[in-house]
Amino acid sequence: MLADRTVFLPRMPSSHAMVTAAAFRGAGIDARPVPDSSERTLQLGRSCCSGEECFPLIITLGDFLRLLCDEGHPAERAAFFMPTSSGPCRFGQYADYIRMVLADRGFEAALVLSPTSENAYDGLGTGSLSLLRACWRGFVAADHLVAMLLRIRPHEVHPGAADAAFQRGIAEIVTVLEDPRTTLRLSSLRGAAERGRDALRRVETLRQPRPLIGVVGEIFCRNNAYSNMEMIRCLERHGAECWLPGVTEWVHYTNLEEKRRIRRRGERLSGRQLRSQIRQWVQDRDRAAIARAFAEDLVDRPEPEVGEMLSLGAPYLPSDAALGEMALSVARAVYLHRRGVAGVVDISPFTCMNAIVAEAVYPAVSQDCDGVPIRNFYFDGTQANLDRDVVVFLQLARSYASRRDNVKPV
Ligand code: SF4
Repeated sequence: MLADRTVFLPRMPSSHAMVTAAAFRGAGIDARPVPDSSERTLQLGRSCCSGEECFPLIITLGDFLRLLCDEGHPAERAAFFMPTSSGPCRFGQYADYIRMVLADRGFEAALVLSPTSENAYDGLGTGSLSLLRACWRGFVAADHLVAMLLRIRPHEVHPGAADAAFQRGIAEIVTVLEDPRTTLRLSSLRGAAERGRDALRRVETLRQPRPLIGVVGEIFCRNNAYSNMEMIRCLERHGAECWLPGVTEWVHYTNLEEKRRIRRRGERLSGRQLRSQIRQWVQDRDRAAIARAFAEDLVDRPEPEVGEMLSLGAPYLPSDAALGEMALSVARAVYLHRRGVAGVVDISPFTCMNAIVAEAVYPAVSQDCDGVPIRNFYFDGTQANLDRDVVVFLQLARSYASRRDNVKPV
């Protein structure tokens, strides 16, 4: 299906698009991230939308169209990666909508590659298990490097040093994954991740106290720097240190949902259940092997077990009724408070259904969590004064942190 085509991957974030593309190449499929988004992305994306659609759709569609319209990539040689889901919001419509627009514009020969969260993205065709495994390992390694980057960058002495070290680490992972001889060799990938870790360890830092800000929100918008106007860097510029969930959180969540679905359909002891269990067992094992290399560096940034984390959000949004990112965002906000953050920001697209529900619940969460400030930042490409809003939020976070620290027993 993918012979003679290039698979283009949305940047969610760029590092993960790079490692996923490398895993595809390691499986013999040409792949690369879409080019960096630009004003032209917005122009093309918006020209195919009515204004009711979510911002991530506009960005991904605009980037795909740029490749076909501006860069002249032949439609019959293109495959656009757009995972789907049957969750509670518009995400499930993206892939079909993109197919429709491409057909309208005469690009019906382009393929939209759309694995679904229904089966935890286990549907990429022959060889998909090896490819998924390589992608999973790449994600785990990239998540750990991102977490280290966010620990180090705000404190770097030489601006740009942490980013450069991080890019070296991602390049190491890419080299392993894109080589068919090493793409599935865990020891090679772990070695690459360790070299990235060591490069980040060598970055010279000067540690000053900074408010730790937990980040939640819609997965595309919080990870796609163009969509969120470089919000993480903006927070850092104004004195914060950030803590983001890894992309693997979503994979853990879809695994959990798949288990629930299997239970609900009475498919226990079925082949489907067995497949799902084996996959999760393999993923957990791979994850643990890579995570061990970062245990010391990320000791104060533990990733929660997703099922346990969701139970923290259950008093506000029960995760068996409120599905998807709204449940994850609310639960993680509670978790982050327990880990001592000074504030939580929810980075989401304007009109995001998940974020709107979560926003309605945050006041209750904040009240039960000692008044920790929680604020939604919405994006649609027209944000007027992000710096001002971030400065105001960080004032709240700082005063919350000093109040909290003053009442703590010594
Ligand atoms: S999560 Fe929000 S932005 Fe993403 S598809 Fe759903 S409603 Fe749209």
